[in-house]
Amino acid sequence: MGGVRLVLFGAPGVGKGTLAEMIKSEYKVPHISTGDMFRELVKERTEAGRIVSEYMNEGKLVPDDIVIGVLRDNMKDDEKGFILDGFPRTRKQAEALQSMLDGKRISLDAVINFEAPAEVLAERLSGRRQCRDCRAIYHIKNMPPKKSGICDICGGELYQRDDDRREVVVVRLKVYEEETAELIDYYRRKDLLKSVDASNDPETTFKEVKTALIGSLRVAGNSNSDG
Ligand code: AMP
Repeated sequence: MGGVRLVLFGAPGVGKGTLAEMIKSEYKVPHISTGDMFRELVKERTEAGRIVSEYMNEGKLVPDDIVIGVLRDNMKDDEKGFILDGFPRTRKQAEALQSMLDGKRISLDAVINFEAPAEVLAERLSGRRQCRDCRAIYHIKNMPPKKSGICDICGGELYQRDDDRREVVVVRLKVYEEETAELIDYYRRKDLLKSVDASNDPETTFKEVKTALIGSLRVAGNSNSDG
């Protein structure tokens, strides 16, 4: 039996990346962020990276075929468990994920839908800083590093993502409503959806995640899927 298999869902700025790291420490499974994968790809300065960066910088979704290809390459060990952060974002991606899992005869344990009011999202996005090296996430007010501009973990430089600029944030929130939010119903119909209030600090939200997952996780002697 592998570890937990979760999808983290919610609007940009809701805190999926921060919570994913906390869940990763607790359940010891990889954190798979398509956004982080694309940011790495962009750094490589290849043609693929250039194409992806054009979508990202405008706050638009990278085309499904590219996203699904990249994800497939990064989920070779998915039987061991995973936390998906930022994927799926469209119906086509959700269906591709389903068929990948079906092919391996495994299933998701839960889809956690993080919820927070629009003003909280805007405030979090505008203050967010990320480490260029280890990708740890900070917030200038709510989760500041010990030394301004420097990552506590690896000493790397903290920067503001290009797509966290106000004009791009507006597009990203609109894209979320238009293209991604419909997946909430998709997963509710599959009886996988767990909604969690993410408007408080990360520790409080994490406690809610653990409560929401009670009964959803496959534990020894209580396998609800593939065992
Ligand atoms: P994130 O770090 O999850 O906010 O993603 C940053 C950007 O990467 C998004 O605004 C998209 O341009 C792109 N991206 C990440 N994941 C996906 C996805 N599943 N589908 C399409 N585009 C994505």
